[in-house]
Amino acid sequence: MPESFQNLINGKWVSAASGKTIESQNPADASRIIGTVPASGKDDIDRAVEAAKAAFQGWKTTPAPKRGEVLFRAAELLLEHKDELGRLVTAEMGKILPEGLGDVQEAIDMAYYMAGEGRRLSGETVPSELYAKDCKSVRSPIGVFALITPWNFPTAIPAWKIFPCLIAGNTAVFKPSSYTPVAATRLVELIVEAGLPPGVLNLVHGTGDSTGEYLATHPGIDGVSFTGSTAVGEKLAKLCGGLDKEISCEMGGKNPIIVMDDAKLDLAVEGALWGAFGTSGQRCTAASRLIVHEKVHGRFLEMFLDSARKLKVGDGLAPGIHMGPVINEQQMKKVLDYIEIGKKEGAKLALGGMAMKEGAHAKGFFIKPTVFTDVKAAMRIAQEEIFGPVAAVIKAADLSDAINIANGVKYGLSSSIYTQDVNNSAIAERDLDAGIVYINAPTIGAEIQLPFGGTKKSGLGRKEAGGRGGALDMFTKWKVIYRDFSGRLQKAQID
Ligand code: NAD
Repeated sequence: MPESFQNLINGKWVSAASGKTIESQNPADASRIIGTVPASGKDDIDRAVEAAKAAFQGWKTTPAPKRGEVLFRAAELLLEHKDELGRLVTAEMGKILPEGLGDVQEAIDMAYYMAGEGRRLSGETVPSELYAKDCKSVRSPIGVFALITPWNFPTAIPAWKIFPCLIAGNTAVFKPSSYTPVAATRLVELIVEAGLPPGVLNLVHGTGDSTGEYLATHPGIDGVSFTGSTAVGEKLAKLCGGLDKEISCEMGGKNPIIVMDDAKLDLAVEGALWGAFGTSGQRCTAASRLIVHEKVHGRFLEMFLDSARKLKVGDGLAPGIHMGPVINEQQMKKVLDYIEIGKKEGAKLALGGMAMKEGAHAKGFFIKPTVFTDVKAAMRIAQEEIFGPVAAVIKAADLSDAINIANGVKYGLSSSIYTQDVNNSAIAERDLDAGIVYINAPTIGAEIQLPFGGTKKSGLGRKEAGGRGGALDMFTKWKVIYRDFSGRLQKAQID
């Protein structure tokens, strides 16, 4: 019998009122069930939102440094349990163990960072034009948030939302992806163990269209922080906009790496491999387009294919594996369908292009690292997010051509250029239309102390993570306070 996990509502672990459950499987071997979680219905969500609402006043008035102390303890607990949690992330999501541990490390980093914000959360104090009057702006919490997350970062993305949401004084109902619910539950268990009062953070499991949508549009929800596909993000933005709710959406990507003729090719090849095939290409920032200067195209391709051919694909918990499975059968089918589309469009399949179904791969969702060459920028495989281990190599005539190709998609999350020329790098930095630009590094590897998010169809609303313009802007509203201690009526702009 697989272990069963529950929802957390008002500090109590409970099953769904309906008693219905969802199974979570190991994508490296679908016969291994990681656990079951409640398939939550409207009653469960109503109770979770009510609990978060009731807890709001107490949490909001808890001094922010005290809230920070809880987050600090959560960071310590996560660190203590990093190995166990990292293994669970790998078993449930499929990414290789070093990446599973990296996922948890990102959650730890965010917990420490936001714990520190408890002693900052700074606003502005400016002089008044009037006598004996002061003026300041302060951040204040918004209320109850719905936090909705995808499966590709089972602990990091939830942490990116939970910690800034809570440090700002909001309360939350968190709905993780139904494909990675057990890792999310373990994360919440540890956060609660750190000393969160009941109701401040609630967890409801369930699928997107039923549980997620009901939660996001619930009248008791003041704000929504969503990460997932562009289609769902845009739908939620429309629904929530009509309901006057704050909403921020982090969505899909089709991220380019530009390789210039003056690039260090071995470095570019290494970066492109990690960018395209890390996490089996299932990162919003995955490098799915490699835009290569025509002068080095042949040499780059030879080196890239040679390295990609050597990647070992298998269960991410096994040693020596470079790439794990994709998340489930549905995703495997989607990726294989795109490979067929690429062939029909006339791109040349230079490597991979098929599922792996023999021996150790028989029960999992494994796809060979796949490389298309002779890709034209307008092809669907160069325009649409595939979210799998598929790289499209596109030839560019020069820097300006490469940047036009890079920008010629509906997404704008991450981007990268490999060059040794300072002028090329400065032009790319200026002209790439993306939320993130890397120079001589692949499109993946954001650090938590700066804002994270994209342009165009990659992001809507506020950004995530730290720094100026980061998640605290998503989770707070500015309030301006004027205090007159002159003892008389003073009229601004008139006296
Ligand atoms: P998804 O949009 O299918 O689901 C994301 C979350 O939303 C899940 O919890 C899901 O249950 C829920 N959901 C689905 N439909 C819903 C609805 N109608 N109402 C409310 N909630 C709903 O995405 P996914 O397959 O889980 O994740 C992959 C996608 O996420 C990719 O497009 C990827 O690029 C994107 N992503 C973006 C970022 C980023 O920061 N930009 C990070 C990671 C993943």
